[in-house]
Amino acid sequence: MSLSLSAEEEESPAEAVDGVWLECIECGETYAPFEDVRYTCDECDGLLEVRYTDPATFEEFEGEGVWRYSAALPLEEGVSIQEGATPLYEAPRLEDDIGVEALRIKHEGMNPTGSFKDRGMTVGVAVARELGVGRLACASTGNTSAALAAYGSRGGMETLVLLPAGKVAAGKVGQAALHDARILEVDGNFDACLDVVRDLADRGEVYLLNSLNPFRLEGQKTIGLEILEAFQADYGTWPDRIVLPVGNAGNTSALYKAFRELVAAGAIEPEEVPKLTGVQAEGAAPMVEAVENDADDVRRWEEVETRATAIRIGNPVNAPKALPGIRETGGTAVAVSDDEITEAQRDLAAEGIGVEPASAASVAGLRKLRAEGVVGEDERVACLTTGHMLKDPDAAAEAGNEPEPVPADTEGVLEHLED
Ligand SMILES: *Cc1c(COP(=O)(O)O)cnc(C)c1O
Ligand SMILES: [Zn+2]
Repeated sequence: MSLSLSAEEEESPAEAVDGVWLECIECGETYAPFEDVRYTCDECDGLLEVRYTDPATFEEFEGEGVWRYSAALPLEEGVSIQEGATPLYEAPRLEDDIGVEALRIKHEGMNPTGSFKDRGMTVGVAVARELGVGRLACASTGNTSAALAAYGSRGGMETLVLLPAGKVAAGKVGQAALHDARILEVDGNFDACLDVVRDLADRGEVYLLNSLNPFRLEGQKTIGLEILEAFQADYGTWPDRIVLPVGNAGNTSALYKAFRELVAAGAIEPEEVPKLTGVQAEGAAPMVEAVENDADDVRRWEEVETRATAIRIGNPVNAPKALPGIRETGGTAVAVSDDEITEAQRDLAAEGIGVEPASAASVAGLRKLRAEGVVGEDERVACLTTGHMLKDPDAAAEAGNEPEPVPADTEGVLEHLED
């Protein structure tokens, strides 16, 4: 099976260009990387993956940010707004309270447009430019549209975003609008938006930059590479576990791919790879269902609902890449309630770390798994927080303190404070 953790060398096919090619994860068909526009396999419609003759190791990385890792990427440089190199915060009270050996928060909200989507776009938009396509498009719960709009503008390309009407947080729509995307508000949920944009892409109307696009996941691998380098520097070991929110499971797939390539390069042993642990909201948990039932396929949920709008997704397109990642690393998946998510959002805020609801799912999931004994007290854990608090100001206001009206004089304020 091609998606296992193995140190076997890859034969490079005739289609490879400078040691890079695309390969179908289902049937193994191979394609040249930048010749035609293609998102899935011509033969079997399976997901495609970027492959390398020589997977990179740590010694080859230099510089800062996503492009520090260009040796592990399909291009030397991208359309960049200085993405990556995000903080890996300590959270001592939360670490103590949850009860693990070490807890670090990888805050992806500190990227240029406020989410990890920037790491994928710096690569994906550069590939679009390489392919010479005109119009870029995505379906989005918000953050992908913000990132695509910014990187598309930066690269001088037209962008089109399809959003589920009324289900996108205010900050994200504002970003897409100001960065000059055409915004189509669709009367349907995210999965319906993706169905439409995939159709438009198949008809050659747009270049698709959802995480179905294999090049986006290459950029997102760098989250895993940054975490591994930081744990090695701070603790002299790899993290035992990485916990992350799951929507389309692009990040889960990307982190797993980063680890597989490090194993293939001999940089890390298969049994040392961090346990990938996915967290979904109870109202949108098809991946959790598949992991719990040990199923080969993920069942599409037609009705999904959660306050964590960024992971309000019923048909995770990258599931065939992500499920082996969770299983092969010895990880798991867990669902949390909206109240548990809000509680975790407050816990993070109390450490000075402001995140949007979906991001807090990782911490809520860790707390739950620790309480159930699935996560041990001796574990060193990294939780991914995927997006910035200001993305969803309404959720922040609701989760936080109520403003208190006071008169415009000191005596009145003092009186109020005494109550
Ligand atoms: C996109 C997004 C997710 C979901 O990530 P996947 O890679 O699709 O699983 C989670 N949180 C936030 C804030 C996002 O923007
Ligand atoms: Zn195929």
